[in-house]
Amino acid sequence: MTLNETHDVSHTSWVDSANAPGSDFTIQNLPYGVFRRKDSTDPFRIGVAIGDQILDLQAAFQAGLFAGEAREAAALVQGATLNAFMGAGQKAWGALRLALSRVLRSGSKDQTARAGLLVAQADADMALPARIGDYTDFFTSIHHATSVGKLFRPDNPLMPNYKYVPIAYHGRSSSIGVSGQSFPRPLGQTMPPGATAPSFGASKRLDYELELAVWVGSGNAQGARISIDRAEAHAFGMCLLNDWSARDVQAWEYQPLGPFLGKNFASTISPWVVTMEALEPFRTAWIRPQADPQPLPYLDSPENRVGGAIDIAVEAWLQTSRMKQAAIAPQRLSRSSFRHAYWTVAQMLTHHTVGGCNLQPGDLLGTGTQSGPTPEEAGSLLELSVGGKQSLQLPDGETRTFLEDHDTLTLKAYCEATGRARVGFGACSGTVLPAL
Ligand code: MN
Repeated sequence: MTLNETHDVSHTSWVDSANAPGSDFTIQNLPYGVFRRKDSTDPFRIGVAIGDQILDLQAAFQAGLFAGEAREAAALVQGATLNAFMGAGQKAWGALRLALSRVLRSGSKDQTARAGLLVAQADADMALPARIGDYTDFFTSIHHATSVGKLFRPDNPLMPNYKYVPIAYHGRSSSIGVSGQSFPRPLGQTMPPGATAPSFGASKRLDYELELAVWVGSGNAQGARISIDRAEAHAFGMCLLNDWSARDVQAWEYQPLGPFLGKNFASTISPWVVTMEALEPFRTAWIRPQADPQPLPYLDSPENRVGGAIDIAVEAWLQTSRMKQAAIAPQRLSRSSFRHAYWTVAQMLTHHTVGGCNLQPGDLLGTGTQSGPTPEEAGSLLELSVGGKQSLQLPDGETRTFLEDHDTLTLKAYCEATGRARVGFGACSGTVLPAL
């Protein structure tokens, strides 16, 4: 993909809030989500975020705003999920994005009439953007893999397969919720240090994981793998993902088949899908250190090396119950970037299908916890607290090693670069409730 007029930094929107400094939803972003009027029983519908507003794509379609290819594409966003549009492929995605850019751009015609097609985000409830058939979570940060490996297996932190295989586990899609989700603290089996038999009860080491996720666009037939040259064309967009993790449950159950109840009780995603086309200006070189094994040929391509990585800043913020009561703002726990990932989006998609597995529109591929090279860039409390041994200081004098009841954890992500318009993901928040 190359840059086109939808990326032009000189464009502003007639929706003024889109042009405000720090706006996540600029005219160059145009992410899709599913919404309805707050506290209503209206059917959910698809919209596009612009500033602090949502353009209602059903109303826009009925108002005759789209023509030709864009109208054909817009016909696929008239339901309550993005699956049909995700499956339509890059040409349809590009046609609708271009039309939306022109409709929402400053200087476009009929602005006053079009303002009636907007709904304030503050007046909307959001739903999952698509029906998620399958959810897979990768493990693409070597910094996370190494530091967590040190805690779980001091003698053998990084497994010998890590630098060859994009490691993942198959997760659970039924418990994925959209930002604003709350869930009871999970119960499970744990084996406390020094104990001779496991005990059962509420998790004492509940954690978050700071992740991004890739929404699969067009899928592949079973048995027909996606080559790395074609992989990017199958990725529709990205969102934030909090892969909540009960570390004590996980530590006892994870060998030999990987995570299970330690992670399947809840996962939270951000409601807006930022398209791969919107992320295009933030692509950067993917570099495999010379001293490391180079990828097997099926996971390697010149394009992937030139622009396979994407510079997306990711942050985790915590607000405790006491902070909420005292009106103390959330505290940032860490910040990193997806550019540090050991594997790219294209490599994740290609590897997932290389044995013949069929991906379907709306499948979700988590990137794994995005920890950066330094300890301060860690994407989980497990790492920031060094396995629960060092507590974090909060602004009101509280401390944390792991999450406590009524804590709200918020993930944020955004792309910023000189000469580019900001492209943000919005927020991904979730709150821990007491165990049932
Ligand atoms: Mn994870």
